[in-house]
Formats: sequence, structure tokens, C-alpha cells
Amino acid sequence: MGAARWSCRWFSVLLISAVVALAGLSGVARAGCKPAELLVAVDAGHGPKSPGATSASGQPEYAFNKRLAAAVKDALVQAGFTKALLIDPVGTDLPPAGRAKRANAAKAGLLISIHHDSAQPQFFTTAVIDGKKRRVCDRFAGYGVFYSQRNRQAAASLALARAVGRELAASGLPFSPHHAADIPGEGRPIVDPIAGVYRYDGLAVLHAASMPAVLVEAGVIVNPAEEQALATDARQTQTARAIARAVTAWCRDQGK
Ligand SMILES: [Zn+2]
Repeated sequence: MGAARWSCRWFSVLLISAVVALAGLSGVARAGCKPAELLVAVDAGHGPKSPGATSASGQPEYAFNKRLAAAVKDALVQAGFTKALLIDPVGTDLPPAGRAKRANAAKAGLLISIHHDSAQPQFFTTAVIDGKKRRVCDRFAGYGVFYSQRNRQAAASLALARAVGRELAASGLPFSPHHAADIPGEGRPIVDPIAGVYRYDGLAVLHAASMPAVLVEAGVIVNPAEEQALATDARQTQTARAIARAVTAWCRDQGK
């Protein structure tokens, strides 16, 4: 009976040790993600046929998005996210939900959609740029980061959006709060005014994604001065590296 009690006690000790060890192991596995194993899908918003907004100098938004999305992918690879890929490198004008479906099919771990911003029509004036009359808006400048509460991983999406906004702000870029204005076409709640994060539940590219997803408006291309800045290699690199640092920070914080 004594021996039986001891063996029973030892068995319990062993069992508890095994459970603790397993819990510890799974804790290690959950804390942080491995950059080389995280597939980050990068989406260049719009496409050649439906190019989005028109910049102050008459350039299509898609040209800005395509260039920056490629820079973001490169910055992610440099940061160790070697599986990073562009959802649609050729540009086939996929609908927003179709982009999310591609990321889902690729079993991506994160989705980052790259856009460049505009403003409501009432804020535009006309200006002559390079000898041509253009519709411009110099009232707003800066970035904005969006997440959708309808995304299946809304909390992780918001965490990523905050990380991206924090890194963009830390790199010296301003946040433009113009999408929060109480006017038709806007009214997006700002959930983090310091990082510059909006909630926009209706964005299909975000809510149709099964992984955490964010949309980044990198800057306001209808603003002549900001368009010039956004077109430089320096600004592209600044934004791309900030996004890569944010993904690194997000990845490090997983499971905490
Ligand atoms: Zn856009």
C-alpha cells in the first residue's frame, strides 16, 4: 500500500511535470512568430484599368501603389520575412475581396494593402502644374492606417495597424485625420490618434481576409507638395522600412 502510494505520488509528480513542460513548450512556440515562416502578402491597391485616385500632376494612384508595394516586399525580405510576396505582381484589377481571397489561398499570415490617398471633391481647387490645369487639394497631408473590426482576427489586425502607425510616426511622417470628418464619404472613427489608426469595417480587402490585415494610405497624392515627396526614393524607402519594422514588432509580440 505504501509502495503503491509512493508510485502513485511519483506518477502524479511526473504527470504534472510533463504537463508543465508541455505548457512551457507551447508557450515558447506561441511567444513570437518566426519571420522566415510568416508569409506576408502585400497588395498594391487598384490596377492598370481602374487606377484609383489621380495625383496632383495627373499620375494614377496605382503607379504609386505598385512601386511602394514592391519596396515594402523588399524591405520585408531584408528584415527576414523571406516569404513575403506581392498578391498580384502583374496587376489584373482584382476586386478588393479577390485580393483577400488570393491571400487566403496562399495561406498568408498577414495581409498589407498599399494605397495613396485623396480627399472629398469639395476640398479641391485648380492649379497649373507642368503647364496643365489640374484638380488639386493642398489641405491634407500624411498617412493613415485602417483596420476592420469585421476581420476574423480583428484584435491582431488592430495591433498590426497600431504598430504600422507608430513606426510611420516615429519615422517623422504626419498622420492625416481627414477621413474622420463628419461629412458624406468620411466619418471613419479614429481608434488611435497617436499612431494614426482608423476603423473601417466595410473594407472588403480587410474583412474578407482570414489573416490579420491592414490597409495603409501612404500619403495624399492629390496634394502637390506631398505628391512630390511621395515620388522620391527616400520617401518610398522610409515608408517601406517603417512597415517592415512594424511587422517585426508585431511578430515579436505574438503570444505575449
Ligand atoms: Zn486607393
